Amino acid sequence: PLYRPAPERYDAMEYRRTGRSGLKLPAISLGLWHNFGDDRTLDSQRAILRRAFDLGVTHFDLANNYGPPPGSAELNFGKIFAQDFAPYRDELIVSTKAGYLMHPGPYGEWGSRKYLMSSLDASLKRMGLDYVDIFYSHRFDPDTPLEETMGALASAVRQGKALYVGVSSYTSEQTAEAARILREMGVPALIHQPSYSMINRWTEEDGLLDTLEAAGMGCISFVPLAQGLLTDKYLKGVPEGSRATQGKSLDPNLLSDEVLRRLHGLADIAQRRGQSLAQLALAWVLRDPRMTSALIGASSVTQLEENVAALAGAPLSDEELKEIDSFAVD
Ligand code: NDP
Repeated sequence: PLYRPAPERYDAMEYRRTGRSGLKLPAISLGLWHNFGDDRTLDSQRAILRRAFDLGVTHFDLANNYGPPPGSAELNFGKIFAQDFAPYRDELIVSTKAGYLMHPGPYGEWGSRKYLMSSLDASLKRMGLDYVDIFYSHRFDPDTPLEETMGALASAVRQGKALYVGVSSYTSEQTAEAARILREMGVPALIHQPSYSMINRWTEEDGLLDTLEAAGMGCISFVPLAQGLLTDKYLKGVPEGSRATQGKSLDPNLLSDEVLRRLHGLADIAQRRGQSLAQLALAWVLRDPRMTSALIGASSVTQLEENVAALAGAPLSDEELKEIDSFAVD
């Protein structure tokens, strides 16, 4: 049946300005890394995407290689987009990336102009879009001049194939240099996409948010729930069908007694706040106003709803932050 988005979709969501740009992003964005490949039904994908938009989640994040198999998340998204979301293109921020292995041969990964430009064309074709809102260099390429990689991003903007550009998992130093090069080309760097969660704080040690602030860039953090570790899901063992059972990116051996002790400590703090562990984890990632968005994954509508409801929680107090550190930091 025809999709009619909820008229109240903009009432509750919080939107944050991305660095010093004109673009606002929802505080919670939805990523299609898992749960949108050919291993999931189109109906379950459609239900998650529709509910997200109904809740004001205006940003969907993809990459050339999301699946499985690589490319299928963009194809599936494209099918659902054409049927459900095409009339709302101007209300949506769609991103894609190139950097990881997409096809064999010397032009199938990393950061050459050859790979980035052809990959973006292929992504647009798969999704059935004329342009993406944000195109990312998915990872820093130590062997390609940064001028070439950033030059490809700038070309994508000039050709109208991307409105904005960003980088993912670049260090603070690499980011500052990328931003400088892009500025000189007249194409500002919009955003950085790093991993960040209560149990993954490399960006803090690297001073990334300060670098981004100086460069006028925003920040959207991926894997804020540590792929599900920072939710109530694994507190009582590993449930059937969860990501840790799928032999993919989440190793069930991570769930040692010591890790479980820490997760239970964090879950107790969440419970005292009337939140789930996932909601605490998201409130924590978003506690700095320079953080533009937390980029979550969800395998069900229920998870998505629980995660978006994190935004209704009280701000974290200094005591709570200290207590979180006592469990989350080694
Ligand atoms: P999360 O840390 O948000 O993990 C999502 C997973 O956690 C879900 O698939 C689900 O797992 C579980 N989960 C989520 N919410 C709940 C809940 N409320 N209760 C219980 N379990 C829950 O992030 P992802 O690893 O999915 O990554 C998010 C996005 O970040 C990606 O889709 C992608 O867009 C981006 N990303 C970017 C990268 C980059 O290099 N730039 C790298 C990795 C991700 P289950 O399937 O077990 O139900």
